[in-house]
Amino acid sequence: MRDLATLPKAHLHVHLESTVRPETLREIAAANGVDLPMDDGDTPPTFAGFRAFADHNALVRACLLRPEDFRRIAREFCADEAAQGTRYAEVTFTAASHGDRLKHPEMPLEAVLEGLAEGQAAYDIECRVILDHSRRRSVDRAWRTLDLARRYASHGVVAIGLAGEETYPLAPFAAVMDAASDAGVHLVHHAGEACGPESIREAITTGRTQRLGHGIRVLDDDELVAEVRDRAIPLEVCPTSNVGLGFASSFSEHPLPLLLKAGLVVTLNTDIPAIVGTSLAGEYEQVRDAFGYDDHLLADLARASFDASFAPAETKARLHEQADAWLAAAPGH
Ligand SMILES: [Zn+2]
Repeated sequence: MRDLATLPKAHLHVHLESTVRPETLREIAAANGVDLPMDDGDTPPTFAGFRAFADHNALVRACLLRPEDFRRIAREFCADEAAQGTRYAEVTFTAASHGDRLKHPEMPLEAVLEGLAEGQAAYDIECRVILDHSRRRSVDRAWRTLDLARRYASHGVVAIGLAGEETYPLAPFAAVMDAASDAGVHLVHHAGEACGPESIREAITTGRTQRLGHGIRVLDDDELVAEVRDRAIPLEVCPTSNVGLGFASSFSEHPLPLLLKAGLVVTLNTDIPAIVGTSLAGEYEQVRDAFGYDDHLLADLARASFDASFAPAETKARLHEQADAWLAAAPGH
């Protein structure tokens, strides 16, 4: 067995706000005079379930105020990802929401892009940014999200996507999606996590999605499985997040093997790693432990993540070479 921390990987579904190191959150909170609820004074609070997830998000939002806060979490994201073999990441950031909150539309995104640039210069990783928009929020803000994506495309923003509660329909955002598509901005929506096949159909048709954020409930509908397979729409599968938020009963009962068996394109991701206590290398390790996959199958999962990314062709080719080299090395290295 080879070390999965050295397997080159692409990380396609990870929310920057849910990657913040606990000690960083504490330090930023202290600097900004924000009270953090702590278990016993020096350990960070533990999280379980959707309510705790929402509370944590609100807490992180309350802490992130200054440009240096955003720069720091972006730079540390690069460090933490590179250390576990992530060589390419498309990190999701809710730029317009922070911009509205801080009454400074561009600052949070500009600071994140600066932090990512610093991180990419210091560590072996290449990053792009996806701007997400909660379905519960206004169509006006979705337009502002697209506006930011267009203006910062040359700085690494590659896509926009709808996230948040899937029970809210995608239809009100149809014109935004059409405009994004016309402008060459990629589209990646969350669907098929909390809601079933209809949410996936809507993401594909109205939302023009190029990947499915989660998408695991595609399995509820055989016809849809065939469509997603025939169109080779990649799934961003996040097993530990699904378990943590109650969408799968345990890692070993996660439907990932069924998705692969159905011939779907599966990529492995963390979604909210700091909240559910995982990492991308950790997800690959858990897949090995739970399903007994060998190094060739695990490398295939990494290769699927390269191909499903919006990375330039040269980057994809380099990542494939690195994965080949990982497999060519003797096990135990
Ligand atoms: Zn997500």
